[in-house]
Amino acid sequence: MAKQQKTAITPTREENYPEWYQQVVRAADLAENSDVRGCMVIKPWGYALWENIKAGLDGLFKATGHVNAYFPLFIPKSYLEKEAEHVDGFAKECAVVTHHRLEAGPDGGLVPAGELEEPLIVRPTSETIIGATYAKWVQSYRDLPILINQWANVVRWEMRTRLFLRTAEFLWQEGHTVHETEAEAWEETRKMLDVYKKFAEEYMAMPVLIGEKTAGERFPGAVSTLCIEAMMQDRKALQAGTSHFLGQNFAKASGITFQSREGREEVAWTTSWGVSTRLIGGMIMTHGDDDGMVMPPRLAPSHVVILPIIRKDTDREKIMAYCNETAEMLRTQTYAGRPVEVVVDGRDINAGEKGWGWVKKGIPIRIEIGPRDMESNSVFVARRDKGPKEKYGQSREEFAASVTSVLEEMQQLLFERACAFRAENTREIDSWDDFVQFFKAEGGGFALAHWDGTEETEQKINDELSVTIRCIPFDYEAGGEGTCIVSGRPSKGRVVFAKSY
Ligand code: AMP
Repeated sequence: MAKQQKTAITPTREENYPEWYQQVVRAADLAENSDVRGCMVIKPWGYALWENIKAGLDGLFKATGHVNAYFPLFIPKSYLEKEAEHVDGFAKECAVVTHHRLEAGPDGGLVPAGELEEPLIVRPTSETIIGATYAKWVQSYRDLPILINQWANVVRWEMRTRLFLRTAEFLWQEGHTVHETEAEAWEETRKMLDVYKKFAEEYMAMPVLIGEKTAGERFPGAVSTLCIEAMMQDRKALQAGTSHFLGQNFAKASGITFQSREGREEVAWTTSWGVSTRLIGGMIMTHGDDDGMVMPPRLAPSHVVILPIIRKDTDREKIMAYCNETAEMLRTQTYAGRPVEVVVDGRDINAGEKGWGWVKKGIPIRIEIGPRDMESNSVFVARRDKGPKEKYGQSREEFAASVTSVLEEMQQLLFERACAFRAENTREIDSWDDFVQFFKAEGGGFALAHWDGTEETEQKINDELSVTIRCIPFDYEAGGEGTCIVSGRPSKGRVVFAKSY
């Protein structure tokens, strides 16, 4: 029997994917569960990743004309009630504040007191409170468009939670814009979807499909929800971001009206769009392997770790000085808009354990420097996209001169690898039998199949296979008409089916 290769993470992806995910989050030191159900503690390595995600997205938002602002955490219940579908959609997940202080209770504990006249909802999303503010800001067409984004935390009382992917409190950004015309609002909705696609693919190295959600999967209160969908390594889909065309629904509910160019009173058109800390879960499940996290270089909290190999205490000072000097050399280089970020890990712990710690964290490049490397002015290099034992020696100058191109090459390789995986697991399917076979016996993936456009068919597929329509591609009619795999009725084009998170 072939000797099984030892992996840093147990179980492997193959053995138990959900458990592998939890173990990677832990081993990479990204986050942990807190004592509050469904809420997580994001640890420094995970938070640094989030800060890089924020910086990247924020740059793209600003480049498309948006500015940041901040709105309150609490939403009066009456605001939420203004849009009927919206309140229906979120009512089941709302955290409600009903009291404003604590008092000593009869048994020595504290009890809530000072009941609020009107309960406050901890924002699950901010359309209503931002809408109420915009109603005050907008009087004339001259006040439009409003192009604002907010970085914030939100709370949705989710029942089944999983670190990063679905938490009760999560960090996100929410863009909220107001426009004079329907066409402009549509253009914005689509533009921000393209921004998300660009960010997912060029920064996260995570390929995404784009399209429109079916009515059943739409954001409560929206006219249309557009989304980016990625394939994880268990072949399930992850909705990684959404951009909503809200029509005039929220503007009517909040009273965002303006005097038009013709002097008429008109209702404005709004959009909203958001991505969250879920993106980190998407990166783990797109790039992680059986040795842990694999960070795409563009977003990696640090690019290079230098591991001094110190066998004799008398060497310590010399080797540390050489390592620090090497770090300085690397830091003078710029990669993807920031200096190459280097950690010199001089901790006095077992060298093997230390090295594996960085493998599990997914740092792109590890270099080892011992007394002999120092004498020959060289470094020993390992790349996270290669096997953990694959290392090569290089002169220090050569390494420093090539570090940014190696990082870029890794970024590209990760993207290509993910694209190839998605292509291998995407299939056009034309019969119900093949569809069932694909999801039940062949491990599933993205099935491109004809659908008759009804909620009834969509529901039937979900009931039987727990498979949903992830999106209706924008160009879905270009592939030609066909017949629905379930009902045999006519279909205008193929939509994307998958199991999902
Ligand atoms: P929505 O406002 O519902 O369109 O959500 C915007 C984005 O936030 C979604 O596309 C998800 O990527 C993300 N998201 C939604 N719910 C959660 C959650 N419970 N935990 C983490 N991310 C979430």
